[in-house]
Amino acid sequence: MALFVQKYGGSSVADAESIKRVAKRIVDTRRAGHDVVVAVSAMGDTTDELLDLAAQVAPIPAPRELDMLLSSGERISMALLAMAIHSMGFEARSFTGSQAGMITDATHGAARIVDVTPVRLREALDEGAIVIVAGFQGFNRDTRDITTLGRGGSDTTAVALAAALDADVCEIYSDVDGIFTADPRVVPRAQKLTHVSSEEMLELAANGAKVLYIRAVEYARRHGVLIHARSTFSSGEGTWVLGHGMTLPAGAGGPTVAEGEEMEEPIVAGVATDLSQAKITVTGVPDVPGKAAEIFKIVAKSGANVDMIVQNVSAASTGRTDISFTLPKEDAAIALRALAGEQSDVGFENLVHDDQIGKLSVVGAGMRTHSGVSATLFEALSVSGINIEMISTSEIRISVVVRGDDLAEAARVVHTAYGLDGDAEAVVHAGSGR
Ligand code: ASP
Ligand code: MG
Repeated sequence: MALFVQKYGGSSVADAESIKRVAKRIVDTRRAGHDVVVAVSAMGDTTDELLDLAAQVAPIPAPRELDMLLSSGERISMALLAMAIHSMGFEARSFTGSQAGMITDATHGAARIVDVTPVRLREALDEGAIVIVAGFQGFNRDTRDITTLGRGGSDTTAVALAAALDADVCEIYSDVDGIFTADPRVVPRAQKLTHVSSEEMLELAANGAKVLYIRAVEYARRHGVLIHARSTFSSGEGTWVLGHGMTLPAGAGGPTVAEGEEMEEPIVAGVATDLSQAKITVTGVPDVPGKAAEIFKIVAKSGANVDMIVQNVSAASTGRTDISFTLPKEDAAIALRALAGEQSDVGFENLVHDDQIGKLSVVGAGMRTHSGVSATLFEALSVSGINIEMISTSEIRISVVVRGDDLAEAARVVHTAYGLDGDAEAVVHAGSGR
């Protein structure tokens, strides 16, 4: 008998029919003799609808009340799910985040979990009940108020429960089949990965892959939680996210490799695409010490989150250089305003805003030990006549900025160049990964 934590995203519990389908899945796990703890998201687009409503009554809703409002979405789905399970003849009990012992800091809208005290969950499990927990929410001990964990926070709820209860696995159910080598809507030949390391998953998620939330993967990595990302709408295996030193559970990942036959790990795990960034270029920056510091201090103070940075060689004749950086599109306006306000102090010539860029990232732990990985990327783009505007790397990732219009084509040729293409087109259920 094992303990399963299962998380169901909003699209998995969008209506009564879906809730019954999820209830059946949960009951099947229970029938197989396992303990089950479920973290559930709000039904469908409930959270967005509640945010909309709030915006209609107040331009800037009070954060405390907004959390009160948003946390109600998960209360609806958890209670309905428990009822659906009851009607199948099984005992289920739902709990809010605070009843479940999700203790967070006091930051409304983006609270961090500081402790999990699942006393009531253990009691319910001991009494043979299936436990349902409202995702995305917690409680702060000092303010004694309800908090929420930020969009997509139910993934983190599930992983935190799995860690606190020492679960055997944390299954994250959504409307996609698992983690793919690329977004199948962009790269039709993308393949589902049987497994991916948590460090690769973090890089993929940070660079545009949307199936799992970064904070949940980080939490899992830190606490040694095994994640299985899979689909509510099929019984097939999904993708296992393996933390440091973890191996695939027995029987997982399809046919096992014959003994003595070492399986070669691919160098590249996947290709991520991101259209959410903009580029700002500060032109004619005096090429003297301290200017980059001045510029990025201004940007940081504006609250914008900088990603890639490139500084050109200065022209000898002018002693000036250009500095470009990328940041989330929604941060661009505020960063531009902040920079413009200090133009004469910093002494740069101009600001150029470009929101038509796309970022392509290639991720793979094998890069540590293999050479020529970046050459393959640049070659594939060059053959296709796609211009590279910026490049950045980490130990296990290479990212390039290209024209936004070129991004899909770039992802396809790069996917092919690394030998990631599957034999057949991936079946896309048009899922959102939620
Ligand atoms: N309902 C919340 C959201 O839509 C939390 C979640 O779905 O994980 O962001
Ligand atoms: Mg949701």
